[in-house]
Amino acid sequence: MRYQSTRGGAGDRSFAEVLLEGLAPDGGLYVPLEVPRLSESTLRSFAGRSYAEVATEVMFPYVTPDYELDEFADLVGRSYQRFDHPDVAPLRVLNQATGEWLLELFWGPTLAFKDVALQLLGDLFERELAKRSQTVTIVGATSGDTGSAAIEAMRGRDGIELFMLHPRGRVSAVQRLQMTTVDAPNIHNLAIEGTFDDCQDLVKAMFADTGFRARHALSAVNSINWARVMAQTVYYVTAAVHLSAPASSVAFSVPTGNFGNIYAGHVARRMGVPISQLILATNVNDILSRAFDTGSLQIHEVIHSTSPAMDIQVSSNFERLLFELFERDGRVLAALMERFRFLGHVELPEPVLEAFRELFDADSLDDDGTRTVIRQVYEQAGLVVDPHTAVGVGVGRELRQHGEVPLVMLACAHPAKFPETVEAALGERPITPSRISALAGLPERVEALPNDLEAVQALITERAADNG
Ligand SMILES: *Cc1c(COP(=O)(O)O)cnc(C)c1O
Repeated sequence: MRYQSTRGGAGDRSFAEVLLEGLAPDGGLYVPLEVPRLSESTLRSFAGRSYAEVATEVMFPYVTPDYELDEFADLVGRSYQRFDHPDVAPLRVLNQATGEWLLELFWGPTLAFKDVALQLLGDLFERELAKRSQTVTIVGATSGDTGSAAIEAMRGRDGIELFMLHPRGRVSAVQRLQMTTVDAPNIHNLAIEGTFDDCQDLVKAMFADTGFRARHALSAVNSINWARVMAQTVYYVTAAVHLSAPASSVAFSVPTGNFGNIYAGHVARRMGVPISQLILATNVNDILSRAFDTGSLQIHEVIHSTSPAMDIQVSSNFERLLFELFERDGRVLAALMERFRFLGHVELPEPVLEAFRELFDADSLDDDGTRTVIRQVYEQAGLVVDPHTAVGVGVGRELRQHGEVPLVMLACAHPAKFPETVEAALGERPITPSRISALAGLPERVEALPNDLEAVQALITERAADNG
């Protein structure tokens, strides 16, 4: 398998190169040159097999020839052993009569779906760096969920130093504790006096500083990394097979921020999973559902909502879909993305918009609607869902087309990660799982820093020297 950039300026990479590089040097995202097909008989053969076995088979074509099958199977098996549920991504009935299901993606160490990809990424990184006798410095910015998932995935790993920037006082208590109580010498939490956007700008500035970037071998694990998309295709396969694919098809509703999770569903469909509908659900940060309605991709101010992991205006992974809809013409897409960055808005050409509308359905749900759905689901099924999941459930129910096709709603986080919103909807807090209650009272490791590039770079240089 070979990979190319969506902007046409970087071609022909292997999986391992794409894994370590993250973003392509021309500013584009890596995509495989072709999408491998899962035949009907392959899909049938998945029935009754373990998540790790199916995951190995689904992902293997993407990682050849860098991996042997046995070695890859071993690594995948190890990653998914760290999940608290034997099925890794279990399906739960929401409503038997209407065929509604929740796909629970929060059984990993940090209780959000990002673990599904990042746990595997940790193992892939460590193995690749050992093979090359290399080290990397991973820097990232987080508004909450990504930071803890990346920290859990990279803690204690050889060859990796991880610096995670979060806006001081602006992440929830649970999110902070999940990051700062991790006791591993290669994990560094930086609490920045500023907003999430300030943190992200600091990270971007460090990547743009070519001397600094090379000196520290900077790397990224945010959702632009192809390996994350690849890992997320797997649960679309296991869920569909569980609901009798390939004999029948399935609809999915996906709460969306960076377009990573739902793009993985699109890839799964292109691989041959019979998906009748992919429903894109946004909160009030609705750039994608507005683009779907109007054909105009237009950045607005980020609004803080009760589903903060989706408070995003520029959905990076959307570029991967656009690349396909522009018939893989990287030069045309590069020009469009530059115009978008410069002007803050761009019109999608009519054929591209039509193709987008053929592949997806889309709508948004505001905070009031989100609380209403949390309440409805509790009253109807006795289940507590988190606010991100509720956005997907609300929009999924609204846009579902075929009553006879099962509708799977992706449950992206454990409700205990967002207790305030659940309490506002239900009048009481969700039960706290031991993964969270065990953090109370543990010592926290975090460095407060001003929103200042030089100060952040100085700290990274100092720590790298200590540990090197
Ligand atoms: C990251 C996240 C999302 C958004 O996923 P994307 O891949 O960015 O679309 C939704 N819900 C939760 C709980 C998340 O952590």
